Amino acid sequence: MVKSYEFIVIGSGPAGRRAAIQAAKLGHSVLVVEKGRRVGGVSVHSGTIPSKTLRETVLNLTGWRERGFYGRAYRVKDKITAADLMMRLHKTLDHEVDVLEHQFARNSVDTLRGMARFVDTHRIEVTAETGEVHTFSGNNFLIAVGTHPFRPENVPFDGENVYDSDDIINMTRLPRSLTVVGAGVIGVEYATIFSALDVPVTLVEPRRNLLDFVDREIIEEFTHILRDRGVTLRLGCTVTDVEMVDGRPVAVLDGMRRVRSDMLLYAAGRTGATSALNLEACGLVADARGRLAVEPNTYQTAVPHIYAAGDVIGFPSLASTSMEQGRIAACHAFHVPAPPAPDYFPYGIYAVPELSTVGMSEQEVQGRGIPYECGIARFRETSRGHIMGLDDGMMKMIISLKTRRLLGVHIVGEGATELIHIGQAVMNLKGTLDYFIENTFNYPTLAEAYKIAALDAWNRMMPAPAPVST
Ligand SMILES: Cc1cc2nc3c(=O)[nH]c(=O)nc-3n(C[C@H](O)[C@H](O)[C@H](O)COP(=O)(O)OP(=O)(O)OC[C@H]3O[C@@H](n4cnc5c(N)ncnc54)[C@H](O)[C@@H]3O)c2cc1C
Repeated sequence: MVKSYEFIVIGSGPAGRRAAIQAAKLGHSVLVVEKGRRVGGVSVHSGTIPSKTLRETVLNLTGWRERGFYGRAYRVKDKITAADLMMRLHKTLDHEVDVLEHQFARNSVDTLRGMARFVDTHRIEVTAETGEVHTFSGNNFLIAVGTHPFRPENVPFDGENVYDSDDIINMTRLPRSLTVVGAGVIGVEYATIFSALDVPVTLVEPRRNLLDFVDREIIEEFTHILRDRGVTLRLGCTVTDVEMVDGRPVAVLDGMRRVRSDMLLYAAGRTGATSALNLEACGLVADARGRLAVEPNTYQTAVPHIYAAGDVIGFPSLASTSMEQGRIAACHAFHVPAPPAPDYFPYGIYAVPELSTVGMSEQEVQGRGIPYECGIARFRETSRGHIMGLDDGMMKMIISLKTRRLLGVHIVGEGATELIHIGQAVMNLKGTLDYFIENTFNYPTLAEAYKIAALDAWNRMMPAPAPVST
């Protein structure tokens, strides 16, 4: 007999999880199918949470946050090993999975381990590891299968010296030196985490700029910090081959320059995990990178009762936005009004130091011809920064000269990914520079940087004083 559900979710990452819980809270029967050993998706098992846990562990064990006072040689633990990093990682992941399983159970969401594929527009088959096949029918579906790392054939991935961005978290030793191929968010995060462990890192990127969606002034500051601490940047260079010499990887740049290192992380792109879904059976076609097109406000695919959300639909490919997309899709499927996600969402890059950005960059504002002014605050100007021993870190605020509205906030430095939400709230509530001028901030805090940056912009925007007649 074919069991039937009102909502079938394929994939238990952030998009699938949030959609499933939302549909269950609305009183509908929900099945989540997950091919992985445990629920949680890339976010819990190989992406967001593992990389952020690794980062936190590295910052703690190296005493990174105290080095402003005690010098670059300061360490909390002398010999840091891969096992030290893994211990905290496994505890955190177990806890995440526990919470998620409990959430599914509490909300009566059925879960099934297996690989799902469409049979037609209303039925899927799920193949368990044992080979057993079950068929289910559904009124609505959400495809939330995420992505897997792009693995070109000329890169000899071996899970020992050459890793992709999913399996790096399984490393059993720390590298003596590391080449990171790809300076996107993932590459930059891992490059700077290993550099904080004092591992010499070379970061290779075909584009001339790092993270070109971020405000240039912030990236210049960030690049300066990385170079100052010895990260080698090879920008405008393409890795044409990776060879193994004496068991160690050598990246060949543009067929000419060779970069040897003890380990190599290939983090240049991810592909939508749609190939096993038998999409033809339900009338859908993925693009060349395995991604699905959706209606931007409802997340419906070309087949209206089949939704898609999360990394499988492409940009911005964040856990944070995936959750919102999943929730909105579930609401739409059950006719509950849910306004579309706001235009401006924060982007957090958990490098060392952190970067975070919301709204328009200065380059974007210029491109749109909007008259503007900027305000800058450096964390070393704040008392909290002195107390914490911060040498670097800055906030940049962009204000419209016509309306005084906040157009963008860009931060590099300690706490950037938390601080950004103040700017996000003011922007999405259509607030102006005056919010920051008129309100008092806790002291001493890093949030005080908002006040300093706002005053910096305000002083520049003041009309020039009338000349004093003599
Ligand atoms: C190293 C790294 C760091 C990151 N850091 C951040 C960060 O700091 N902040 C942030 O917001 N985002 C971050 N991300 C991005 C974030 O992890 C993704 O945006 C998020 O996981 C996407 O969620 P999702 O629901 O689309 O799918 P995923 O989390 O990819 O989950 C998809 C699930 O679907 C399952 N699946 C696939 N095919 C099938 C099938 N046919 N049948 C059954 N199950 C299937 C998979 O096993 C997987 O569990 C990071 C990503 C990586 C790789």
